[in-house]
Amino acid sequence: MLQDKDRIFTNIFGWQGYGLEDARKRGDWDGTAAILARGRDAIIDEMKTSNMRGRGGAGFPTGMKWSFMPKNSDKPHYLVINADEGEPGTCKDRDILRHEPHKLLEGALIAAFAMGAHAAYIYVRGEFAREIKHLQAAVDQAYEAGLLGKNACGSGFDFDLYVHAGAGAYIVGEETAMIESLEGKKGQPRNKPPFPAMAGLYSCPTTVNNVETLASVPTIMRRGGAWFAGFGRPKNNGTKLFCISGHVNNPCNVEEEMGIPLRELIDKHAGGVRGGWDNLMCVIPGGSSTPLIPANECADALMDFDGLRDLKSALGTAGVIVMDKSTDIIKAITRLSKFYMHESCGQCTPCREGTGWMWRLMERLNAGNARFEEIDMLIDVSKQIEGHTICAHGDASAWPIQGLVRNYRPLIEDRIRAYAGILQAAE
Ligand code: SF4
Repeated sequence: MLQDKDRIFTNIFGWQGYGLEDARKRGDWDGTAAILARGRDAIIDEMKTSNMRGRGGAGFPTGMKWSFMPKNSDKPHYLVINADEGEPGTCKDRDILRHEPHKLLEGALIAAFAMGAHAAYIYVRGEFAREIKHLQAAVDQAYEAGLLGKNACGSGFDFDLYVHAGAGAYIVGEETAMIESLEGKKGQPRNKPPFPAMAGLYSCPTTVNNVETLASVPTIMRRGGAWFAGFGRPKNNGTKLFCISGHVNNPCNVEEEMGIPLRELIDKHAGGVRGGWDNLMCVIPGGSSTPLIPANECADALMDFDGLRDLKSALGTAGVIVMDKSTDIIKAITRLSKFYMHESCGQCTPCREGTGWMWRLMERLNAGNARFEEIDMLIDVSKQIEGHTICAHGDASAWPIQGLVRNYRPLIEDRIRAYAGILQAAE
């Protein structure tokens, strides 16, 4: 279990104030100018040493992502900070915004310096009214203290930071949709290439980073990339915020070492499964788009990128949704498929048409009003969506259904039989 001395987010529960004075007591903004004085390449190298992989869901190595930004370009560079946290089951960035905003601001300055960006935009989910208030207050404090703006922290580097509230579209969490939205257009993902590092915001070199990723940067710089890489397993290093919700005794956000076994995570931090471990039905381990893991595979599941990939699921956002045996799992996945249909931006035919098609069939399977062969047809359609769309939303809509059928097909068939029995009895 991660020791308190190794936690990056020491105020994630909000027991202390979020303002500058309290943040400084926790070590934020300590020697930031000296960190910048190491130079762009040294900062990027330190991030590479840390093996940090982006905490927004895709898990791309952060140092490598930063190194894709051109070194010599006559266009301005931008940093965009993805605070549009909307994946069901995920609420970690929200707690950083409201309890630890200065960690994010300092991380943004260091990252922007390393990439030669003099401006950054924090794109916050519009529903986060209180978080936006805290964040803006922290930005104002940082400007007043000379930590942001001209000659930020006395480093000689000018850096401006803007808070931008979104309008409630899930798909704007996709990085190119976020860039479109910031430009004042409809928040729809772009075709790639070009990738944002070449042509992002206003067609200028841009990097989009997640809140947790950036908020971890100052501590990594102070304690060293090797310290961070000392946690977890190769290619799955560091500490991570896990959001544990659903049928547990104490739902919570907690920072833990990557690779912690799922049962240990739930038992030690969330007070165990409601009704005991034997009452567990399944867990969605990384936000609602990741395939569920059945109870018999949960105990030893390692909570990192590779551990969950081996179980045909994914770490995603580390939004752990626990479901006990009282769950109607067909109904639950039907509800998720409705969500993904609703949030499709409609650009690509497989996603626009397919998500609605899958939801309608899920509704019928939930009632039992279907034929057995339609289960295979559903999987066939999900495969035609997966990997055939502009953005990962197509995959996100397909995976929960694939996870359901892979693990609970007999349950679906039972429901079809039960429905047929009711019909027969009524004749
Ligand atoms: Fe839009 Fe869906 Fe295509 Fe993504 S996959 S661009 S959400 S239609």
